[in-house]
Amino acid sequence: MTLHRRDFINRMSLASVSLLASHPLFGKTAISTDRKSVLIETAHFGNLGGWMLDSQFEPHLGFSYLLAHGLGKPVENASSKIKFPKAGRYHVWALTKDWCPGDWESPGRFQVLLGDQALSETFGTKPDWTWQTGGTVEVGSGQINTTVSLKDLTGFEGRCSAIYFSLDANDKPPIDRDKLPQWRRDKVGLPSTAVDQGHYDLIIVGGGISGCAAAITADSQGVKVAVIHNRPVLGGNASGEIRVHTEGIHGRASKVLDKIDTPHYPNSDPLALEADKKRMKNMMALKNVDYFLSHTMNSLEMKDGRIHAVQAMETANGTLKRFTGTQFLDSTGDGWLGHMSGCEYRYGRESKHEFNEEWEEHGELWSPEKPDNRVMGSSVMWYTRATNKRVKFPAVPWAKTVAKNYVATEGEWQWEYSHNDLHQVYDAETIRDHMFRAIYGSYDNAIKRRQNANLELDWISFLVGKRESRRIVGDHIYSGVDARDSIEFPDSVVIEKRKIDVHYQQKLLGYPVDFKSEAIFQAIKNTYYYIPYRSLYAKDVPNLQMAGRCFSCTHIGLGGPRVMNTCGQMGVATGYAAGLCKKYGKDPRQIGKDHIKELRKLCGHEGELPPLIDRAGDEIAEPAATS
Ligand SMILES: Cc1cc2nc3c(=O)[nH]c(=O)nc-3n(C[C@H](O)[C@H](O)[C@H](O)COP(=O)(O)OP(=O)(O)OC[C@H]3O[C@@H](n4cnc5c(N)ncnc54)[C@H](O)[C@@H]3O)c2cc1C
Repeated sequence: MTLHRRDFINRMSLASVSLLASHPLFGKTAISTDRKSVLIETAHFGNLGGWMLDSQFEPHLGFSYLLAHGLGKPVENASSKIKFPKAGRYHVWALTKDWCPGDWESPGRFQVLLGDQALSETFGTKPDWTWQTGGTVEVGSGQINTTVSLKDLTGFEGRCSAIYFSLDANDKPPIDRDKLPQWRRDKVGLPSTAVDQGHYDLIIVGGGISGCAAAITADSQGVKVAVIHNRPVLGGNASGEIRVHTEGIHGRASKVLDKIDTPHYPNSDPLALEADKKRMKNMMALKNVDYFLSHTMNSLEMKDGRIHAVQAMETANGTLKRFTGTQFLDSTGDGWLGHMSGCEYRYGRESKHEFNEEWEEHGELWSPEKPDNRVMGSSVMWYTRATNKRVKFPAVPWAKTVAKNYVATEGEWQWEYSHNDLHQVYDAETIRDHMFRAIYGSYDNAIKRRQNANLELDWISFLVGKRESRRIVGDHIYSGVDARDSIEFPDSVVIEKRKIDVHYQQKLLGYPVDFKSEAIFQAIKNTYYYIPYRSLYAKDVPNLQMAGRCFSCTHIGLGGPRVMNTCGQMGVATGYAAGLCKKYGKDPRQIGKDHIKELRKLCGHEGELPPLIDRAGDEIAEPAATS
């Protein structure tokens, strides 16, 4: 959905459903393209009922799906209109997954209904994403135009991406990741060519706090910007969908960060929905920025070693769009632009020797002898609410192998999962699902105690909040030592004072469950630390900058600046740099070499310094002069 500012504000609702429903192609009748079969994409359903459109894994799964996120209560049916090519006996397959296979009934069971008749097969019962066969169904001549519905049977995270009906028993759809996307497009009659969206001075991919801050500053410099973001609301982890409050100082960028940050409410507070409204209103007021929300950037084109164009898919209708750009900003958190354009990137923990980040007191928990794939983990936050009667909750044996005897009635940032063998991008769905099991199991343990018996599950995010994944390598790799020793750089454009804060899984110290983390804090020598502009552009691709948790840093170097106000400061610096790129017709590295004084001045780090502001908006002490 491409929204003009006024339209967006008028229609703005925090429910993704209403945003998607405003698109003219959303909810169209599924029709046959070959006279013998019909594919229906659940993302295109006109009525999502109580199902959530889950697009967060689209960049690596290649598809989105509907999720029955009912917190243990079956959600309302989702449905769509369908037109069969002719009457006959159709073979049925649903693209789905038993998300928690084991020695129990699959938790995510659902049925498919044709009209009001349920097919005999119960879906969501086969492991891994697969086309689960649904037997056959007789479509009479009076049923050519009918509806297909998903009926959730459990309220426990059932999922379905597509349903296929074919008159041919041998027409089983492909599951091969290389063939599936094109096959799906062909079947629903979507063109494979992308709609040209024109040229932008700056294309920002990822609308978290870093991407938003970059858009505001670039806009102020007359830069024509496209923001491609795969969720319906801006803010990333700060959004009402995930609900993390913004930490870190505003530094010298308060004018920008004031527009997009959050108050210091507890993480997961519904007040995050109010902060969304403020952010969206301010973002939509920008004159030079076009927003492509609920669009996933899925590929890019290179020309002469530079990024030339990116392609994005609109989740609700599968439309492909192509954007050419002069400059690009990777603020996806997962470093997708850097990864796809072939940049060197880092993932996991460096050896303690590589950047001298050793801290003897904490040994391997802080920095290992040998590099490994451990990173700070991802979280799913949740809470309960008091009711006036004893709550009923179904048995969740499938959750207990993760939750064990753990008892909890809410989950804050420490509900975090990572594993040396699980990748925060490619295994993100497994990680999110592991957290679902931790939550449902711990909650079930809790309500068995008298003092918790009236507590009902109120909110569980279905989006996994990420802390760390790919870090794109720039001309400088920002390290923990740079932060700890308060190193000042001639090209510093970000200032922070928050201690270095790196997490480890408590399981490593023998804790009985594996989904809780703890933080280790390291103090800063001279209170403040600084990030150089050289860590905010890619060393390998000349027209790519990074802002946010995918900036050029080590695992320990990320520990302090990963919080959102600091990431926002990076966005501010890259947004101003994009302005200078346009002004001088140069790339980021040249701006860092030839125009760094001007960039630092724009960022408030050179010349007349604007006041230094903390996260609450109060002025704080200037750094002490260093000799
Ligand atoms: C549970 C938890 C607690 C935390 N506590 C705090 C805290 O108290 N305060 C604080 O400030 N920070 C906290 N952090 C850290 C902080 O939230 C992250 O480091 C921060 O969100 C990084 O900002 P970002 O803009 O780089 O990434 P994100 O906030 O992740 O935003 C990136 C956005 O890009 C989108 N995107 C990704 N790929 C694509 C694509 N291919 N196409 C289109 N869009 C895409 C994503 O959907 C995402 O919304 C916490 C993190 C977690 C998980």
